[in-house]
Amino acid sequence: MIPVHFETAVVFYLLSVLAVIAVAAGCNAFRRRAMRTEPTPTRIFSCSKCAHPYLDDHELEQSNCPRCGTANEPQRI
Ligand SMILES: [Zn+2]
Repeated sequence: MIPVHFETAVVFYLLSVLAVIAVAAGCNAFRRRAMRTEPTPTRIFSCSKCAHPYLDDHELEQSNCPRCGTANEPQRI
């Protein structure tokens, strides 16, 4: 057994706890940064055949309805 002073053992224990907390905080910050995504801009479309409202890419001039496949133009608000 290695002889260790009580003060040295307490300091080592506190540094170990601080290291575990720092690693956990770093992992949590990395995970939050990885999950953040920017929303893509969309436009509202409404099907002229089945009246189904849906969202699609904002750059499209025409979009096919996900229900019936009819080509539709974006809604003017
Ligand atoms: Zn439709």
